[in-house]
Amino acid sequence: MTDHVRLISADSAAHEALRTVRVLYTDLDGTLVAPGGSVLGDAAGAPSLVVAERIVALARKGLDVVPVSGRGRPQLRELTQLLGWHTYIAEAGGIIVRGTGLRAEALVDHGQWPDDLLGNGETPVAAMNRVGAAEALIEAFPGRIEHYAPWQMDREVSLLLRGCLDAAEGQTVLDGLPLPLDLVDNGMLRSYGTLTCRDMPPHAYHVVPRGVSKARAIMLDLAHRGLGPEHAAAIGDSATDLEMAGAVGVMALVGNALGSNGVRDGLANGTRENVWRTHAERGEGWAEFADAWLTAVSDDR
Ligand SMILES: [Mg+2]
Repeated sequence: MTDHVRLISADSAAHEALRTVRVLYTDLDGTLVAPGGSVLGDAAGAPSLVVAERIVALARKGLDVVPVSGRGRPQLRELTQLLGWHTYIAEAGGIIVRGTGLRAEALVDHGQWPDDLLGNGETPVAAMNRVGAAEALIEAFPGRIEHYAPWQMDREVSLLLRGCLDAAEGQTVLDGLPLPLDLVDNGMLRSYGTLTCRDMPPHAYHVVPRGVSKARAIMLDLAHRGLGPEHAAAIGDSATDLEMAGAVGVMALVGNALGSNGVRDGLANGTRENVWRTHAERGEGWAEFADAWLTAVSDDR
């Protein structure tokens, strides 16, 4: 099923497409960072500069990197600043922030929700709590879904849950609520927490206002920059990440992404002419992508 996904380092069409790319939208967990969350580790979590060296090399070339993550705004601000980047997309596409200092500009995306859907000063998460979105899922799938503590705190646009769900069945539950909501599968996790299911690995799930997605956030950010999809690439490891393919010229999957059922389904169901994979996993795969990008851009200058 996934054998037909071409290797980014060995494909002339990828090389050609990467020549015009100036900004990379990167997932973090399962993609950039090692198990445990460090950028100073290899795919197995052993100390390594493999990622850090590429972050520096891309910065030296003036190539921009934007983290796109399910993580919340405070977490991403710190990470973005620490890695020398400038823009970040938090809460699975719900918040785009340009700048990490006092004059940072934030765009909170409500997707397809009409302006009058929220009460005065109400955040999308407060509205979801008002209609009991998380509780409805927990009640419908006992032992199979829970709040993803402690990362569910201080969120504005998306609820963060951990579970082992058929995403379509979860969506049906959300469709019974008086708010238009999407259930987004943001990839595999390592820990089950207090879940009792063992028939599939635990995944992170986001509940977002209908239409909010990583892909939509990328389109909004590219429009703000005056760039087209041919100037952008994305890299990730989950089904949600694969949807970024629709917003960019080059979509890369790190090697470990191909173990995800959601990714395999996405590859089987979509036209994926602009999707490539790396051989290596996690940060080592990210480095492999960066090397292919740096080579393509060097050719052009
Ligand atoms: Mg991920």
